[in-house]
Amino acid sequence: MNILSGFKLPPNSKDDWKWTLMPSGRFHTSDLTSLLNSRLLPSCSSTSETLINKMVPHKLGIFVWRARLQRLPVLMELDKRGVDLDSVRCPICNNDVETIEHTLFRCSFALDLWSRVIKWWGSSFIMISRFEDLFKGLLFSSSNSSVSSKLWQTIEWVTGYMLWRNRNQVVFKKKKESGPMLLNEIQIKSFEWISRRSRKLSLV
Ligand SMILES: [Zn+2]
Repeated sequence: MNILSGFKLPPNSKDDWKWTLMPSGRFHTSDLTSLLNSRLLPSCSSTSETLINKMVPHKLGIFVWRARLQRLPVLMELDKRGVDLDSVRCPICNNDVETIEHTLFRCSFALDLWSRVIKWWGSSFIMISRFEDLFKGLLFSSSNSSVSSKLWQTIEWVTGYMLWRNRNQVVFKKKKESGPMLLNEIQIKSFEWISRRSRKLSLV
């Protein structure tokens, strides 16, 4: 009431919402994306772009965004933030400290799953060399604009998401899935999500 007490609407003007972050006062999601890129991402030079993939649910986009910004709560990240832990070793293989890169990319369990996924995709096992390039869909093509590389990018996102979900099940429920079972879930979920969101694609 204090804020509103001295406020008078100018005569004959319409009440309206204004988005004060842009001079135009109008809200556009593209402006918000640019603002997020410029304000949040420069601190992490290897992830200067926001990856977008409309074939998957938002939760996967958020997962990839957090993974690329080192914002997933793996043991090393918790340790850096002062959380008192018994161990920071990978709860799956116990061979190295648990970083995001290790969990999604270097762990023997992750490498085994990636090799199964790539074989299912019809290629012999090669893996990108840099973690920064994971989730860009560039493994079999130099651009991520074609339909096939967009589809592969989707598989990369679903595989990373399933690896993270499996890791959480190991930590919180002491339950680990096998590589073949996880591959099966990746196939089912990818098909379900892609076919729901991209009706023009025929995935038979
Ligand atoms: Zn491991």
